[in-house]
Amino acid sequence: MIKIKDNCIGCGACIAIAPENFEFNDKGFAIVVDDNLSDETEEAAKFCPVEAIEIK
Ligand code: SF4
Repeated sequence: MIKIKDNCIGCGACIAIAPENFEFNDKGFAIVVDDNLSDETEEAAKFCPVEAIEIK
C-alpha cells in the first residue's frame, strides 16, 4: 500500500520517477493513482524531499 502524507509540497519528483503510481491533484499535490509497487515506487519514496511517501 502506498500513502502520501499531508506534508507533500508538490515538487513533482514522485510523478517524474513513478508516473504509473502518482499524479498531481487539482491543488498541485501528489496523489496515488495505482497501488502496484515497483522499483520506481521505491525510488520515488527515497527521493521525496519531505519523506511524504509511505510504503507498507
Ligand atoms: S516527491 Fe514527495 S513532496 Fe514531491 S510531489 Fe511527491 S509526495 Fe509530494
